[in-house]
Amino acid sequence: MAKFFTEDNISKLLDEAIEKGLIVPYYQPKYDSVTGKLSGSEALARWIDEEGCIIPPNSFIPILEDSCLITKLDWYILEKVCAFIRKQLDNGITPVTVSVNFSRVHTYESDFVGLLCGIVDKYKVPHKYIEVEITESALTKGRVYIIDFISRIRSSGFAVAIDDFGSGLSSLNFLKDVPATVLKIDKSLLSGNCENEKERIVLESIFNFAQRLNLVTVAEGVETKEQLGFLRTCGCELIQGFYFCKPVTQDEYYELCRKNMSEKDQIEDILITQPQASATKLLLDAVFMCFPLIIMSNLSRNSFYMMAYENFTTRSCSSAGEYTKLIEMGTMSMHPDDRKAFADTFDIKEQLDAFAAGERRRRIVTRQLGDDGVYRKIETINYYVQNPSSDDVLAITLSRTLEN
Ligand code: C2E
Ligand code: MG
Ligand code: MG
Repeated sequence: MAKFFTEDNISKLLDEAIEKGLIVPYYQPKYDSVTGKLSGSEALARWIDEEGCIIPPNSFIPILEDSCLITKLDWYILEKVCAFIRKQLDNGITPVTVSVNFSRVHTYESDFVGLLCGIVDKYKVPHKYIEVEITESALTKGRVYIIDFISRIRSSGFAVAIDDFGSGLSSLNFLKDVPATVLKIDKSLLSGNCENEKERIVLESIFNFAQRLNLVTVAEGVETKEQLGFLRTCGCELIQGFYFCKPVTQDEYYELCRKNMSEKDQIEDILITQPQASATKLLLDAVFMCFPLIIMSNLSRNSFYMMAYENFTTRSCSSAGEYTKLIEMGTMSMHPDDRKAFADTFDIKEQLDAFAAGERRRRIVTRQLGDDGVYRKIETINYYVQNPSSDDVLAITLSRTLEN
């Protein structure tokens, strides 16, 4: 039966649990949104009761925070994480960075960085393998004080992540001056499958903002393929959530690190929902009058989505997904004599090389089979631009049927 924690018994129960090894870190992996590779993890405290049942953090973290005992738990979890990374290093496994949660209570510790280095160095763990996670709510302490607190952690070689961004009163103005390395976008911003346009605009703006500030972005609480697809189009770098993996025990995580993502774990068939920003709608409507099909592609990330697919006589295909699959499908719908030219023109690598060499536009006319079984001449024009915030090369494809 789960323990009943009170302010009177929590101190004793915490000490007992630590002594008996009943508090352990679980690890939730983070994955690269493009390659699907394991790229880090977060250590999450779990309290195991006498019957072996897991007591989740929300049953004990708030009371530990109220009594300031949370710092004891956090240092204990850090120590367990360091011992684990040491074990990986000793066994010849290259670790990935583990982020450890530090309550805002630590901002009152006068020698936080000294204590941090003391534990990490005791296990001879290189500092780059530890990331300090501080929740957005901790940023409410004095501006100068927090900036100095985070700067000192960074100067000692640790990465710093701002956790739960967007869950409270996020001050973008403050964030721009905080020398953090990572921004973790709170799961509350990801509702449903990102169908709501206003929510998409908010997320797009946050990612754009974070990228321009050179922050690595992590989306928390990703549960569906549709959310993943949308996050990829926003340029979100890392994904943490049940869609890929729930928090797992240390032994399970050790195995995951050992395999470090074999091919089968990679992302397959990513479908991307259409994030059409309202600001561009009028302009798009005008362009649609000439070109009924517009495709926005991210060549660097091998993804695309269609902005419109009306009155366009060709086989229906999915409105978002992998660019290479779109080109394969498009090629097959062309007249056999035009297929090679079409496939060569829109080969990703060739386009990226051409962009690097200065090409900004290319055009091709091919014959495409419509749903009615008739071949029609199709003009396809690609314009290439670079996303200034992420360096990704984007292609804007305009396509229309030419008069015979
Ligand atoms: P957090 O740091 O934001 O951790 C992410 C939480 O989201 C974890 O909950 C994780 O299990 C959950 N989560 C991950 N992916 C998904 C998903 O796809 N869907 C949903 N619905 N949830 C997902 P958890 O482990 O219950 O931890 C809750 C919070 O407790 C953490 O939120 C963190 O603030 C706190 N916490 C956990 N361990 C520690 C610790 O060692 N020290 C401190 N100070 N706080 C901790
Ligand atoms: Mg966290
Ligand atoms: Mg969080």
